[in-house]
Amino acid sequence: MDRLLWIDGKPVPARSGRLAPVLSPANGETLAQVAQGGPEDVGAAVAAAKRAWESGEWRRATAMDRAKVLLRLAERIRAEAEELAALESRNVGKPIQEARGEIGMGADCFQYYAGLVPAFGGSTVPVGAPGTGLTFREPVGVCGLIVPWNFPFAITTWKVAPALALGNSVVLKPASATPLTALRLAELASEVGLPPGVLNVVPGPGGAAGSALARHPDVRKVAFTGSTEVGSEVLRLAADDVKRVSLELGGKSASLIFADADLDKAGASVSGSFGNAGQDCCARSRVLVERAVYDEVVERFVEHTRALRIGEPLDEATQIGSLISSEHRDKVDGYVRRGVEQGAKLCTGGRARAGAGSFYEPAVFRDVDPAMTIAQEEIFGPVVAILPFDTEEEAIRLANATVYGLSGSLWTRDVARALRVVRGVETGVISVNTGWSVHLEMPFGGVKRSGVGRELGPAALDHYSELKSVFISED
Ligand code: NAP
Repeated sequence: MDRLLWIDGKPVPARSGRLAPVLSPANGETLAQVAQGGPEDVGAAVAAAKRAWESGEWRRATAMDRAKVLLRLAERIRAEAEELAALESRNVGKPIQEARGEIGMGADCFQYYAGLVPAFGGSTVPVGAPGTGLTFREPVGVCGLIVPWNFPFAITTWKVAPALALGNSVVLKPASATPLTALRLAELASEVGLPPGVLNVVPGPGGAAGSALARHPDVRKVAFTGSTEVGSEVLRLAADDVKRVSLELGGKSASLIFADADLDKAGASVSGSFGNAGQDCCARSRVLVERAVYDEVVERFVEHTRALRIGEPLDEATQIGSLISSEHRDKVDGYVRRGVEQGAKLCTGGRARAGAGSFYEPAVFRDVDPAMTIAQEEIFGPVVAILPFDTEEEAIRLANATVYGLSGSLWTRDVARALRVVRGVETGVISVNTGWSVHLEMPFGGVKRSGVGRELGPAALDHYSELKSVFISED
């Protein structure tokens, strides 16, 4: 089946006529032939978004009317959740259970911003002159959104929902490997009454379509999720026109386990490391353990890792699906070999599964030095390094000893320690006594090379709106 670009409320072929196969990484099956957009197609999509913006039909609609469309979209996604989850599971290679969670979160995201936006407005401001100060919240204009392949649907909705709720127009560039649910989302949005041109989707190579979007002069805001390397390039491309930019980038998150923690829970927290087969910007790819319980935690962690069921994405029992491609699997395997060469001890896993697909056994290393490559670089696969620490200060120092600062966890029963450590760790997000980080209602994003800005929660509304100051003289 061919899937075309989605521009101005309808499917259109790429100007070049090019199509590329989108594959299931678990078995190599071709899921669709997808039109490959380039700079001219991005230009057409931005022009459609600008026309929709200038017509005012969407941005001048009341917040309540926009919210009604988004609520219908949330319901439409729920009605089609099983099909969307199966499509995502096959396209990304992720377990169907995880894919269902992602689609459900996407629907909730539209509902959340539909509820928030009618209550979002400016304020009156006391000023030192005779008159009245007011602030208005206004949409930004055409937003260029660029997303990765690991949570294609959820991350798309994190950007599209607040952008649309505020009245912006959008051009979305999905990852080349995983454009299918984004294209379906655009169709569903059109079916529930989103005007043509308000949401456009242009799959295509990042270096052509993505970069054209980031530098297009009519794009006022760029929101990017992906690698730190590409994110900094996007920042450069957006600089000439001084666009607003938000970046959600890579991570090397740590789980800090203190000796007083509930070790049953902490030692079993493998899903925080291996969810989505470790292809998760928040993956706890480093586990830092107080030395007194180091051996015990390593043992439990390895035991729980070995119990994870690797299997076909659509199998209900599967916990670890396929990696996104054989190239990516080989890259992950290269990191594992590097860890072994540098002297870390591989306790379990670290092998590609024979046969079709890009399946990889989750790897756990112990006796890892903080300077080793596996403790420093984002692997973006199922590989965990477990390191010991002696003091709370050392734990914080180690947690902060990478260029990243996205997420993390801390396990302790001591509330005062939890507060000290939470304040000491340099990340945008940190959880206590759980390996889970993402809540729709809370801001999400990183510090250092993990990014700029916050998505989700009310904070996302700031990204997609301008604050205008108005002064009315009473002289
Ligand atoms: P990526 O290679 O940086 O690609 C992300 C997106 O950017 C894709 O749509 C890609 O298109 C596009 N792109 C590539 N080159 C571009 C360019 N020169 N200009 C504009 N766009 C360009 O990242 P990925 O491999 O898809 O995703 C994995 C990375 O995302 C990891 O580093 C992970 O930590 C990060 N991530 C971060 C978060 C977060 O919230 N902080 C969440 C999820 C993932 P193509 O697909 O065509 O290359």
